[in-house]
Amino acid sequence: MLAMSRSPIIAGNWKMYKTIAQALSFVKTLPKFLEDTSQKVYLAAPFTSISQVAQESKGTSIVIGAQNMNDASEGAFTGEIAAKMLVDAGAKFVILGHSERRHIFQEDDAFINMKVKKALSEGLQVILCIGETLKEREGGQTRQVLQKQLQGSLQDVHPKEGEVVVAYEPVWAIGTGQTASPEMAQETHKECRDILSEILGEELAQKTVLQYGGSVKPENVKVLMSQPDIDGVLVGGASLDPEVFAKIANYQS
Ligand code: PGA
Repeated sequence: MLAMSRSPIIAGNWKMYKTIAQALSFVKTLPKFLEDTSQKVYLAAPFTSISQVAQESKGTSIVIGAQNMNDASEGAFTGEIAAKMLVDAGAKFVILGHSERRHIFQEDDAFINMKVKKALSEGLQVILCIGETLKEREGGQTRQVLQKQLQGSLQDVHPKEGEVVVAYEPVWAIGTGQTASPEMAQETHKECRDILSEILGEELAQKTVLQYGGSVKPENVKVLMSQPDIDGVLVGGASLDPEVFAKIANYQS
């Protein structure tokens, strides 16, 4: 019953791709390929194009968000972006704690935690990414790693239903073409929900949308989405082409 109440969220993460013109062309083209134009699709755009694609997407099912932000309200932080600026540009959500931020830019759970709090306080929905490396999985540490990431990132966070989406993305599956098997993904999603239940309580954990990410493609989305604890996907490479991304969003057909 509760599982039925989680609305699927299909999200694209463009990473450091697309000029403003390319981003605009994508959002103008995407609706033509969507079979159910009432189903929301999320796109995390580069900072430079958020404002224009958010404007262009008004009145459509496309929800525009960002890929990162700083935890401070404003200040002398050269090169950083504040939550308020994202909201001002038209962003509705922000991806936080992506493994590329954790590994390439050394972001830790304490920093991510401060960002989560700031994003929620400014009215942004959060897609919180977590995931283990191959070494951690092979060392039998997956649950421990996910628990540490979830506890650390959600410390003293009291989200309301829908405000925090958790994206489980095994680091070894991102951009590698190697997807977790549907069974492995389901098993780990179930573990994430159990951990969330300890942190947020059973009711909220049951209502939290859990996305899978890591080499999601039109060919594997259906079986992933048919798993009981997988409520959405976060798509990198396959979100760059509107026709391919629409095939993922149209997974039910
Ligand atoms: P990928 O990226 O789909 O290219 O593996 C997923 C992500 O980084 O969110």
